[in-house]
Amino acid sequence: MSDQDPVLLVTGGSRGIGASVCRMAAKAGWRVVVNYASNAGAAEAVVDEIRKAGGVAAAVQGDVGSEAGIASIFAGVDRAFGRLDGLVNNAGVVDVKARVDEMSVERLERMFRINVIGSIRCAAEAVRRMSTKHGGQGGVIVNVSSVASLLGSANQYVDYAASKGAIDTFTVGLAQEVVREGIRVNAVRPGVIDTDIHASGGLPDRARDLSSVIPLQRPGTADEVAGAILYLLSPSASYVTGALLNVSGGRGAP
Ligand code: NAP
Repeated sequence: MSDQDPVLLVTGGSRGIGASVCRMAAKAGWRVVVNYASNAGAAEAVVDEIRKAGGVAAAVQGDVGSEAGIASIFAGVDRAFGRLDGLVNNAGVVDVKARVDEMSVERLERMFRINVIGSIRCAAEAVRRMSTKHGGQGGVIVNVSSVASLLGSANQYVDYAASKGAIDTFTVGLAQEVVREGIRVNAVRPGVIDTDIHASGGLPDRARDLSSVIPLQRPGTADEVAGAILYLLSPSASYVTGALLNVSGGRGAP
């Protein structure tokens, strides 16, 4: 690979959907920045795997839920590769099952700080580096939303669903804002995907338990979501911007 190859930042690239995106993107010719919040070992394992397969990757720590964290992520990108061509806004969290009338303001602030403000701020830093208006060469952004934005997630985590609704609207608006600056912006809406996120919300068996309500009768895999993200990142999607693509086994249409 050479220093002409495009550079992709994947927030939350150390585990789950983000890790699959990192592996697939490296195979597709991207040099990859694997961002993580706290689990350095998982991020280094993804980087090692990519390097062993002949790809180029670097792990960069930084919490997208803080301004200092975002500054250090982009400083890491600039230091490691000195350019940016793509961003996958993948880092996101859920919280434990609760009704809205049980949710604390601290819970809501964490949810929106990481899932919404983190994605918007990372996109802003990416636009500063990629937009032709700022002297960049253009680029591509893929936001990771959820079909929860369509379903609402009542009695489970309406706050999370609302944060993903904000991501949908943000995707449509940013896509229009930068459409003449060489940047495409799209989102995927995964359904129930078999990753660690369910255990972090206190429901480790959630993906399996929900199989019967998914039209395809099974949870999705991280690779199945990553495949859709890789399409949106690729030149095959050159006429696609402002789109919201469900990757949900048929759940949550439209
Ligand atoms: P996951 O398995 O829990 O992995 C989360 C990743 O995000 C980890 O790499 C984690 O790094 C990182 N991360 C968490 N908080 C972060 C922060 N504040 N700053 C930077 N990185 C952070 O999650 P996943 O299931 O792959 O989910 C990825 C995205 O898909 C999320 O946006 C999620 O909402 C969305 N999604 C998932 C599903 C599903 O069913 N899995 C469905 C719809 C949408 P550390 O290991 O260092 O903490």
